[in-house]
Amino acid sequence: MSLQKITDRTFYLPGANNLGVIATGDGGAIAIDTGIDKDTGRQLRKALDAAGLTLRAIINTHHHADHIGGNAYLLRNTPGVQISAPPLEAGLIEHPILEPIYLNLGARPISALRNRWLMAQGAPVHQLIGDIDHIQNGVSMHVEIAGVSLDLLPLPGHSPAQIGIVCDGVCFATDSYFGTAVLVKHSIPYAHDIAAQLASIERLATRDEAWFLPGHGQLSPRSEMNELLEANRAAVQRSSDLVLQTLTEPGDVAAITARVLRALGHALPGIPQYVIFAGAVMAHLSYLEQQGAARVELTTEGVLWRR
Ligand SMILES: [Zn+2]
Repeated sequence: MSLQKITDRTFYLPGANNLGVIATGDGGAIAIDTGIDKDTGRQLRKALDAAGLTLRAIINTHHHADHIGGNAYLLRNTPGVQISAPPLEAGLIEHPILEPIYLNLGARPISALRNRWLMAQGAPVHQLIGDIDHIQNGVSMHVEIAGVSLDLLPLPGHSPAQIGIVCDGVCFATDSYFGTAVLVKHSIPYAHDIAAQLASIERLATRDEAWFLPGHGQLSPRSEMNELLEANRAAVQRSSDLVLQTLTEPGDVAAITARVLRALGHALPGIPQYVIFAGAVMAHLSYLEQQGAARVELTTEGVLWRR
């Protein structure tokens, strides 16, 4: 796989997770995310070599294992590389065990959750970029990385402090929206905070960059974005409506997750996929509570959600 050129200074390595590349102009390169493991790290390194670029810096947009898994390999194999990430995400990037811990109700992760999909190899974050309040309030910022001035676009929601990067008319939008095929496959687009996810979609809708690259999906020109963002908005709204519909009788998160899966006719292949799906259902319950559409209480039957 070779680097695909977007503009004179921007490129990407297409894959299950698209990786962004920004040329520094003096032979260097900044990578935006590193893929799921050392193999994606190696593919990125080879693609940079073939393009005559030397990796100088890595920006991690958020902490999910499929975005940071190549960090450790690239740090080991490219001298002087610096990793930058937003606050909060950085702690999870440095300590990847935290992802299976939170997916396991805070307990020591069960063996099914200790895999490369949920737990990458850790690596130090050398530079925190962006201010956590600005990111969570949607305020854009400038950052300088490897001598290049970049716009940092707050895109929280999918993850608590996710950021996008804007350079040269290209918006590296990471998991703030998904390509159509990914939306169809996952039914409920994964998120941590639904209100923030919707606000980030609206923030993207106001952007006028020429190109947009999602973490999972195709590179799109601006002319395709209204339709894509509308499909994402609709998928999030449909998910919330579906979770609300399952609250015809009270239930705990496990019962509601089972009802949602039944309604979708969706079977999950394993425990990792289940805990991620249940996490997304929980995000919608939390959103419905925030909207005043659902409430939760402790009963002798457990923690039950109702309309
Ligand atoms: Zn993600």
